[in-house]
Amino acid sequence: MNMVRLDKQKFSNFILELSAEYTVFAPGKVGGKTEFVPIRSEDEIDFKTLVTDMSPKGIFFPSSEVLYEYDKQGIRVPEKEIGKPIAVWGMRGCDSRSLLMLNKVFGSAIQMPEDEKFQDPYWKEKYDSSLIFGSACNTPLSTCFCNWFGGGPHSREGMDVFVVDAGDSFLMEPVTGKGSNFLRELTCFADSTEKDEAVAKKLASDAESSMAAPMEVTDLGERLNDLFEEAVWEEISAKCINCGACTFSCPTCHCYDIQDEGKGSRGKRIRVWDSCMFPIFTMEASGHNPRALSSQRVRQRVMHKYSYFPEKYGEFLCTGCGRCVTACPVNLDIREVLKTINAYNKQGITNG
Ligand code: SF4
Ligand code: SF4
Repeated sequence: MNMVRLDKQKFSNFILELSAEYTVFAPGKVGGKTEFVPIRSEDEIDFKTLVTDMSPKGIFFPSSEVLYEYDKQGIRVPEKEIGKPIAVWGMRGCDSRSLLMLNKVFGSAIQMPEDEKFQDPYWKEKYDSSLIFGSACNTPLSTCFCNWFGGGPHSREGMDVFVVDAGDSFLMEPVTGKGSNFLRELTCFADSTEKDEAVAKKLASDAESSMAAPMEVTDLGERLNDLFEEAVWEEISAKCINCGACTFSCPTCHCYDIQDEGKGSRGKRIRVWDSCMFPIFTMEASGHNPRALSSQRVRQRVMHKYSYFPEKYGEFLCTGCGRCVTACPVNLDIREVLKTINAYNKQGITNG
C-alpha cells in the first residue's frame, strides 16, 4: 500500500474511527506541561508541541503500576483499566524508536543463560497489540540530536504508520503490515498524488538539513570504558543536583522499584519508576552505597546509555530526543558531556 492523503477536514472522522477500535493517546496539555494522554476527539490534541515534556513511555510502562493484589483468598492481577488495545497518534521518530529499545528490555531481555529471554507480561500485553502513528518533524528543535544515533526527523523506525503534516492534509505511509491493514479498512482517505510525495520529500530534506552536524559516536563506548576511573566525571557531574528529572523525562530510561503496600492480610505489589541519579537507588541494607558520589551516579547513567546497553543490545540507549537537555534544572547538557568524553585525553586535559 502506498502513501495516502487525509484532508484535515476529515481528521475528526478518522479519530472517531480509530477510537472505535483503540484507546487513543495523543500529545495533550496537563497542568501546563505536555504529555501523551487518552483522547476522544481532535480538540484534545496538542498539534503544536514537537517534543512533549514527558515521553510516551508511560503509556506502556506507567510511572506506577499495580502488578498484583493479595488477600487471604490469594493473588489477583487487577483488571485492565484500558479495555481496548492502544493506538498512539503523533509520536515523533525519537519516541517510536525508544519503544523498540524498551521492547528489547521488556519484550525479550537477554538473561543468563542467554537463550532464556525474559518477557514482561505487563509491557507485552499493551505494546504488542498497539498501533503507532508516527509524526514527521518538519522543524526540529535546537535540542534535537536524533541524527547522532542513526535517527532523523523523518525516521520511520518503531512506527506502524508514518505521518507527514503537509499543511491542509496529513500524508500517511504504512510502515508495517498492521498499519497497512488498518488504513485499508478506512474510507476517509484519498490516494496521494505525485505532488503530495514531492511535498513530503522536500519537507524531509529541509528538516534534515536544518539540524546541526552530528558528533562522531563510533568509538564512544570504548572511550567511556577507557575513562571509567578518570577524574573527568567529577568535572562533568559538578553541577548535578541528582533530581532525576533527566531519567523521568527520558523515553529510554527504564529503572524501576518494587514496593509493597499492605495492611493486615491485604495488600498490593506496585512497580514504580526509579532513578539511578538518586543516592538511595543503590543503597544496600548494610548502609554501604556503591554509588555514594554524584560523579559515580552521573557516570552510571552515561555508561549505561552509551557503553553497557550497546555492548548487550548493539545500539545506544538514547534517541537524541533532547528531553534531558530541556528538563535539567542546572543545564547539564548530555551533548556537552559526550563532547567532553570525546575530547578528553588521559593526561587529564580536555582539548575540545
Ligand atoms: S538520554 Fe536524553 S536525549 Fe537521550 S533519549 Fe534520554 S532524554 Fe532523550
Ligand atoms: S536533570 Fe540534571 S540535575 Fe537532575 S539528575 Fe539529571 S543531570 Fe542531574
